[in-house]
Amino acid sequence: MNSRRDFLQKLTTSAVALPFLPLYASSEQFNFYDQLYDGPVLRVAIMGLGSYGTRVAEAMQTCKRAKLVGVISGTPAKIKDWQSKYDIPKKNCYNYENYDSVKDNADIDAIYVITPNALHHQAVLRIAAAGKHAICEKPMALNAQQGQEMVDACNKANVKLLVGYRMHFEPNTLEIIRMRNEGDFGKILFFEGLSGFKIGDPNQWRLNKELAGGGSLMDIGVYSINGARYMVGEDPIWVTAQETKTDPIKFKEGVDETILFQMGFPTGAVASCLSTYSMNHLDRFFLNGDKGFAELQPSTGYGPIKGRTHKGELTKPHVTHQTLQMDKMAGIILAGEQAVVPVDGVEAVKDLKIIDAIYEVCKVGGKKELDL
Ligand code: NAD
Repeated sequence: MNSRRDFLQKLTTSAVALPFLPLYASSEQFNFYDQLYDGPVLRVAIMGLGSYGTRVAEAMQTCKRAKLVGVISGTPAKIKDWQSKYDIPKKNCYNYENYDSVKDNADIDAIYVITPNALHHQAVLRIAAAGKHAICEKPMALNAQQGQEMVDACNKANVKLLVGYRMHFEPNTLEIIRMRNEGDFGKILFFEGLSGFKIGDPNQWRLNKELAGGGSLMDIGVYSINGARYMVGEDPIWVTAQETKTDPIKFKEGVDETILFQMGFPTGAVASCLSTYSMNHLDRFFLNGDKGFAELQPSTGYGPIKGRTHKGELTKPHVTHQTLQMDKMAGIILAGEQAVVPVDGVEAVKDLKIIDAIYEVCKVGGKKELDL
């Protein structure tokens, strides 16, 4: 088993004619983790060994189709720790100056960018130039223009660009999407998204406009933006927004503390959302249709995700989000599989266009038409 796995890891990503176990229907999903898997494995290097990078690395230990094989970091001591913890060879370790040379490393297929938001754009352009697939954390970039450049660079280099939208693989979320597609909620009329937490340390990069690109909207509000789209099942055509600030010292110019925003969808559904860095207990989605409703609370935390519909409790079992995400992404990259809700760069550019519009409307007021 191991030698076969090692052998397969040495194959290029075009080695897709090998047997795959089905991974998509939710019952198969859980069987998948009970079975032996000896198909191709996506070999991933993580860039940015901070708190979320650490979470992803730990979750990847139980992945079947993806494996952590490399790191990119500016801190030699962290590289050393990760090398011993995850058995990473020296030749797969890079810093921010020399990682372009990953292009000559045949043992790394993809690089997962988990650095502060402002660094995603340049990193993905360099990864594409090195001919490696890119997985990038949310928000994918600081604005839609940067996002589109990332999509174009990856298309040009013929590599995939995926975004860490872990909720797109979450079983209870997918159950609501399945029910909606089957008409269980009838005509969708309304979505409410509440995304927020009380942020601590005033000196962290999330409160630095240069590194974060904004404030709560970039970091946590994006869950309500993206969630509105996958819960309603349409892309919005207009947005309105209002910003409030209670602490202008902690939340400086360009760093939003709280934004309320509303969106309208082509079939007439409307959404009302809250993004904030100054309130806890806000992680809730509610979807209303003319035949029923769905609610998730918590809706986007690390889980278990809980919720109910007018038909009763949602009961899909919890799987560590990042484990599932990386296994699914391996299927997308290695075998051309499709996610139920897309996780590619094009999907992220839509969210970035909405973010751009919300920030603009907060400044100038009014209603902004969207063309996603
Ligand atoms: P973090 O501060 O814990 O880690 C960031 C890492 O980037 C650190 O290791 C830091 O050393 C490194 N880094 C490299 N260059 C840096 C620079 N110039 N300034 C500061 N740090 C630098 O942050 P995090 O919570 O791990 O967030 C990283 C990214 O992951 C963000 O884009 C965030 O939005 C995203 N994230 C996603 C989820 C999710 O559930 N999908 C959860 C948390 C964070």
